Amino acid sequence: MKVLVINCGSSSLKYQLIDSETEEVVAKGNCERIGIDGRLTHTPAGKEKVVIESPMPDHNAAVHMVLSILTDPEHGVIGSLDEIGAVGHRVVHGGEKFSSSVLLNDEVIAEIEECNHLAPLHNPANVTGIQACMELMPGKPMAAVFDTAFHQTLPKEAFLYGVPIEYYEKYGFRRYGFHGTSHSYVSKRAAEFLGKDPADLKIIVCHLGNGSSICAVSGGRSVDTSMGLTPLAGLPMGTRSGDIDPSFFEFIAEKEQLDLKGIMNILNKKSGVLGLSGGISSDFRDLRAAADEGDEKAKTALDVFCYQVAKVVGSYAAVMDGVDAICFTAGIGENTPLIREKILSHLDFLGIDLDREVNDSTHGTEARISKPGSRVEALVIPTNEELMICRETAALIEGC
Ligand code: AMP
Repeated sequence: MKVLVINCGSSSLKYQLIDSETEEVVAKGNCERIGIDGRLTHTPAGKEKVVIESPMPDHNAAVHMVLSILTDPEHGVIGSLDEIGAVGHRVVHGGEKFSSSVLLNDEVIAEIEECNHLAPLHNPANVTGIQACMELMPGKPMAAVFDTAFHQTLPKEAFLYGVPIEYYEKYGFRRYGFHGTSHSYVSKRAAEFLGKDPADLKIIVCHLGNGSSICAVSGGRSVDTSMGLTPLAGLPMGTRSGDIDPSFFEFIAEKEQLDLKGIMNILNKKSGVLGLSGGISSDFRDLRAAADEGDEKAKTALDVFCYQVAKVVGSYAAVMDGVDAICFTAGIGENTPLIREKILSHLDFLGIDLDREVNDSTHGTEARISKPGSRVEALVIPTNEELMICRETAALIEGC
């Protein structure tokens, strides 16, 4: 079956058409600047990439363009929309309602909308994408795959914050965690790579990209994770602060005469390694280049990031009472040997014997970067959230 995977942002729509039997990507692409002007970049397997600039006033127009290009005689990959067996949608927040993927219907959409207040920037866009697809492909089976679902196994001691319990009871204020599809995929793949049953493993997945989070996976279940109520929590990221002293709000409001909106803007957009480096960049490639040229702030930003990652990894080894494998994934985790080495240099006590040669030559490919006999394995496992969404969607349809 061919599964169309849709990931809708507020002004973007990424898609992949995947054959669920062979797991081959038949075509992929994205629509950018929806509601502004509109640009579609489409890459069909085995054919030239095409870029089309065309007005996309809303997500309906974007989905319409995607479906047209998929069936286009020149750039398309299918004869008609009937060849699409199902659509899998990424949904960011499923609250406590969704602990696994679900088939979509009006009732489920209403329940997703009830989670909108927990992810006001993401969930409404996800729902818009779902509704656009339903309008343009009526009757097509569709599934929602949630970023939060994998973390619904967190125990109370890991998901409750030290604030009055009534905020959890009344409003659902708790740690939810994100990147669940990635953590789930990478931990399963790591078990396969090691030739072991996930039930027998304690794995720590470091998803290090523009957004970064870490997950402790024990026996195949997420038992702790670094993001929280929102994806602002945990590690310092490209532009997000991660965890800080909550007194920051009162302190900086007074010093800089800022209101809540202004402070949230700083924490989301101007902090992390961008802020720490004095505004050089949120991109680790730029920071490394600046650090190599002797920029002290860029060097410090990288040091802070690596230290904080190591600190979380160490704490997760503690909560699981040990660890068998540490996995690196996403843009930074897959492509930056220096960052992996710096992180692991803080974790000698765990018994990781890094193979520097293999680490240095691993960029975006699956590899064991620890030496044979290392007490704890270190692995690079490229993430594949789209494939995971395709698998989940196909499994739901086949289970009907
Ligand atoms: P992501 O959000 O997973 O796309 O990751 C984005 C981050 O990964 C950026 O900070 C990039 O610097 C880093 N990154 C992505 N690709 C590469 C690459 N080929 N080499 C080094 N860093 C990369």
